[in-house]
Amino acid sequence: MCPAFPDFRLGSVLATSFTGTLSERHGHPVERIPTPQRLVDWLAVYGLAVDSCTSAQLDLARELRESIHAAATAAALQEALPASAVRVINDRSVQGRAAAILTPEGERRWRFGSASAVEDALGVIAADAIGIIAGERDGRLALCASPTCRAAFFDTSRSRTRRWCDMNTCGNREKKARFNASHRKRPASPE
Ligand SMILES: [Zn+2]
Repeated sequence: MCPAFPDFRLGSVLATSFTGTLSERHGHPVERIPTPQRLVDWLAVYGLAVDSCTSAQLDLARELRESIHAAATAAALQEALPASAVRVINDRSVQGRAAAILTPEGERRWRFGSASAVEDALGVIAADAIGIIAGERDGRLALCASPTCRAAFFDTSRSRTRRWCDMNTCGNREKKARFNASHRKRPASPE
């Protein structure tokens, strides 16, 4: 594994973890799936292992990612869903041929039906996004409070008051920024 690639931000919700493979969209964006192999790596983490990925498939994945981001953002703001984003999400959902399989241990696995498994994996992600945006799951779509991030995330906290997409990154940075700002206000501090 090449250390030059940015780490993944791993959340518990498939669709919004996928949109988190591009972060800091309103600052200096960080692309966390810069190569087809990194998409393969990411999919494996989420139980969607595929053998290979072409750059055309990576493009499809990124198109789906940005469509989910756009639709989830609109849903969080209670605005109309962008038609083009809805179309891409539906296309990926329809073209995926993954079947949910129940293991004897009571776990869910995905079995891919297409020769090109990446499309099947993207179909699973698209279906997950549809479930969240349609409000089928217990939680609330919200936007990260960090002005450089504004990622859509799925808040499953009991109080539904989560402010950041990720406490370890955006949440911590915000705290640090507040701390530094309060220190700068001290009259004795040299400029
Ligand atoms: Zn964030």
